Parts: sequence; C-alpha cells; structure tokens
Amino acid sequence: MERYISDEELRRQAWKYWVVVLAWPVYLFCIPAVFDAFGWWAVLLMVWSGAWLYTWIGCLMHECWHKYVPNVPNEGLYKVYSWMLGTDPQNYRLVHGFHHSKVNSWEDTEFHPVGEVREGWRRRMYNAAEILLGVIWTFGLLTAVLGFHERYREKWRLRSLLVSLAAVTVFYGGIGTAAVFVWGVAVWQAVVAIGLSFWLGAFWVHQDQLVQHGGLIVEGDVKERNIRSRNLRRETVWEKAFLFMVHGDCREHVLHHTNVREHSRVFADRMPLPEGAVVITLGDYGRVLWGMVR
Ligand SMILES: [Zn+2]
Ligand SMILES: [Zn+2]
Repeated sequence: MERYISDEELRRQAWKYWVVVLAWPVYLFCIPAVFDAFGWWAVLLMVWSGAWLYTWIGCLMHECWHKYVPNVPNEGLYKVYSWMLGTDPQNYRLVHGFHHSKVNSWEDTEFHPVGEVREGWRRRMYNAAEILLGVIWTFGLLTAVLGFHERYREKWRLRSLLVSLAAVTVFYGGIGTAAVFVWGVAVWQAVVAIGLSFWLGAFWVHQDQLVQHGGLIVEGDVKERNIRSRNLRRETVWEKAFLFMVHGDCREHVLHHTNVREHSRVFADRMPLPEGAVVITLGDYGRVLWGMVR
C-alpha cells in the first residue's frame, strides 16, 4: 500500500511531544500570576495559549494511542497526557478503537458514552451540557459508565481510576499550591486561573470533535459511516483561527477514518480527500450545534 508520509518525517515530530509535557505545567504555574497582574484580561492568554496547549495535549494523546511517531515512548506519554487532561488513561484506551469501528453511530462509546439519548428535552439538556462542558462531560461520563458497560467491564480496572484520581490531584493541586506560595496570589486566584484554563481547553477539544461527528448518526457499513465524518473548510479568518486552536485536527479528519494508518493531522494537503468527503463552513458548524439543542 502506498505511504504518503515517510518514517523520517514522523521521527521529526518527536520534539513536540516533549515540549508539550513541559509547556503545560509551566503555563499552569504562571497563569495565576498573570491573572493577578492583569485581572480578567488574562482570559485572552488563557484562550490563545492555555486552551491551545490543552488541545495540543488532546491531539498528542490520541496520536500516542495510534503510536504514529515511533521514536517517543508512546505508552508512558499517553498516560501522562491523560492525567494532564484530567482523565483516567484506561477510558480512552478502551473506547478509541470503537470510535473507529463504530464511528457516526450510537455505538461509538467515545462519542456517546451512555448510548442513544433521543427523547426531546433530555436530548437537548444532554447536548447542551456536552457542548458547554466539552470533554469534561464526555470523559466524566466514560469514567462513570465504563466499569458497568457490558463491552468494557471485564477490562476496566478500579485501580487505574484510583491511581488517576491521585495523579490528577497531585498534578493540579501541586502546581496550584506552588503558584500560591511562589507568586503570593490568593487561593481563589489560582483556582480560577487554572480551572478556567482547564475548562476552556476541554471546551475547545470537544468543539473540534463536534465539527467532525457532532449530532451525526449514519445508517450503513463502516465505509459509509467513515466518509460522512466532517472536515472544516480553511478559508475565512475565523475558520483559520478555529483550526489554529485545534491544531488542524478537523481540517482533514475524514482521512483519519478512511486511511487510519497515516498520521494525516500534521501533514495537511499531502493526501487527497476521498471522493464524497464532507467539507463544512463555520456557519454550517453553527447549524450543527443548533440542531443538537433546538
Ligand atoms: Zn484515532
Ligand atoms: Zn473521528
């Protein structure tokens, strides 16, 4: 089978994996001091660097799952990224394969942790929470349900959840405490600055995913479901800004489903989009969201 991206090019991606691991804690440590100095203006930095870093971790965690880059410790980094995103590594490990095989159906547990939610007001409330809370909502639900889910409960481990709770608490609690002591900021300032950065990141990660699959249920075989995965056009300044925030993840996302062997996200325009690929505008995306809550 023809390969579009060389091994050498993949290896050259490795530095990013290490930069992100350092940049996120440094950012979290500094943002309470920025919040103290500039007040709510600091939110601008939270969006353009905090959320941007968080979404980057989200992308790299995904790419570690697929082991696209051979010269990084994918297993170890996958775990660390998961904790940085505030989640238990076993969640995504268990469900992401089904995001591929069951994409754009209610059986995609990664996207629909509790399966079908169809009833009027319940569907609207559920979708509104999903849109506003982003992966805090979907990761939270996965944590709550996978231990009881017939497809995953045999493989699910309480130990992994407990270790993750400890790791996330030590990571965020430790950085917050250090910021309070070093910068002399109030506890509430550290909590708000770090908490807001976390929520903005979780929000953006999921906007990216909603562009790709939000509110999309397709009847058909895997080929028919794959091809309907949406891609965001890159034309207006707003579309470019959106793609910048999500590291280009939804630009050619259909390729991740139709040609999963290739690490397509960071190599845009290298592979032709398959025939019938769905490219939407930001306005179309607004209509997708409206369709989920109306
Ligand atoms: Zn994937
Ligand atoms: Zn997808």
